[in-house]
Amino acid sequence: EIPDLSVPAFVLAAGRDRPDAPALIDGLKGDVITHGQLAGYVDRLAASLHERGLRKGDVVAVFCPNTIWYPVVFHGIAAAGCVMSPINSLYTPEEIAFQLRDSGAKVVITISLFLDRVQAAVEKKPVDEIIVMDGAEGHASLIDLLSSQAPSVQVDFDPADDLVTLPYSSGTTGLPKGVMLTHRNLVANVSQCRPLIALGEEERIIAVLPFFHIYGLTVLMNQGLAWGGAVVTLPRFDLEDFLRTIQDHKITRAFVAPPILLALAKHPLVDQYDLSSLTSILSGAAPLDADLAMAAQDRLRKGAADGVTVAQGYGMTELSPVSHTTPDPENLPSGLTDVPKGSVGFAIPNTECRLVSSETGTDAAPGESGELWVRGPQVMKGYLNNAAATADTLDDEGWLHTGDVAVVDEHGCYTVVDRVKELIKYKGYQVAPAELEAVLIGNPDIADAAVIGVKDEATGEELPKAFIVRAPGSSISEQEVMDYAASRLAPHKKIRAVEFIDAVPKSAAGKILRKDLKNR
Ligand code: ATP
Ligand code: MG
Repeated sequence: EIPDLSVPAFVLAAGRDRPDAPALIDGLKGDVITHGQLAGYVDRLAASLHERGLRKGDVVAVFCPNTIWYPVVFHGIAAAGCVMSPINSLYTPEEIAFQLRDSGAKVVITISLFLDRVQAAVEKKPVDEIIVMDGAEGHASLIDLLSSQAPSVQVDFDPADDLVTLPYSSGTTGLPKGVMLTHRNLVANVSQCRPLIALGEEERIIAVLPFFHIYGLTVLMNQGLAWGGAVVTLPRFDLEDFLRTIQDHKITRAFVAPPILLALAKHPLVDQYDLSSLTSILSGAAPLDADLAMAAQDRLRKGAADGVTVAQGYGMTELSPVSHTTPDPENLPSGLTDVPKGSVGFAIPNTECRLVSSETGTDAAPGESGELWVRGPQVMKGYLNNAAATADTLDDEGWLHTGDVAVVDEHGCYTVVDRVKELIKYKGYQVAPAELEAVLIGNPDIADAAVIGVKDEATGEELPKAFIVRAPGSSISEQEVMDYAASRLAPHKKIRAVEFIDAVPKSAAGKILRKDLKNR
């Protein structure tokens, strides 16, 4: 039941069906690209890349912030049969060079503001050409490419085998890994999410999460556009821009990560905007505290008749990226009116799951936690240039070992506990940092919190240490932080050390960078 199509086939179809409807809107400047224009640009870009000598399978790296042109570039590269490798816009020249070398990129597409970093990177790893979207002396611009007179390209796709994108995993637990995703992986994932999250033509989706991360890449640039809706772009998360854009563009859906929900739950500015157009906020990419999600939902529902639902999804780059999501309320399985608080919902259609005990290697008993294994058409082909990591993650039977611990209830609803690697081992117990963080964030004197395990040399145990950002005006002490947590948690989960910091280090996709805290 997975359509045997290439990724750009969807946007080309939307261009034929609804040519005049807006596809992409710049949330700050208001510039619009219609579905018809998008399809035309995709055709021209593909023709131009072909004219420049690029062929099926060649890798094109893209290094730019979210703009309305990013999806044009992604689908244009895909329509040429090439593979788009998105680069994190915070990367240094060294990190860019690593990805250019590892991916074997032939061309880089960037913006003039980022050109210095690209030039420093290509000194270490040369490429054939640098294209500067908004123009720079000595470089072709996007306008040059889009005005190509070359004939349209017809690529023979084998959707199950041909790569469409080569994103790198976030590098949260080690060096980022190049994840080989095929046309079929992405098309499958878009189709699999469809019965649960019905993105209709009238939908307006805010794209504040970076397109360079798999979440923005599939959910925003692909799913959002495939069904003919409009995607409103913001270059970065700024709370006021975000709120104003929702209000002014009557945004219906926001796909976010936990730090944005933290702001929606806690920041005083939120009440000053009319956010009543929102029907759904879906959080993914990192553990979400259930109470925080409820607080944000209650706050946004105030005064609105229908109100917004705060939902959650789970995924990873290797899963294109979704395997689980809480459905829209009207798509809940019969007999259920809600999912358990904090859960990531059900496996999406066509997705098999196992929970495997790390001690015994066998399926966990009902109600017990285990490592989540996933099998389905969205599972990656493998890691690029890394057979060892592929063998560790993807077994012979096609199961992807996620490295995350989860539990499932009798309805098939999953809750993610934390990463196996980040569980703190204390006296034979395993303590999930995400659980302790959720408790700490519940304290009004605490604006944000992160927990890591620090080795106690004397006992060899790992002790939970909390990094705390005080709420404005608060003077909460170390002891008060520890007492607050101790009164709400079992003794083995006690916070044993506290350090106050100005901000919790987080990635652009909203993940806590625990390795930065460990290296402080
Ligand atoms: P790397 O694999 O390079 O260390 P990463 O795992 O952070 O980086 P991503 O593929 O961006 O790279 O993230 C996937 C991970 O994000 C999952 O394995 C999981 O740990 C976490 N995650 C995603 N969604 C959720 C969620 N809803 N709840 C808890 N954790 C989540
Ligand atoms: Mg990972």
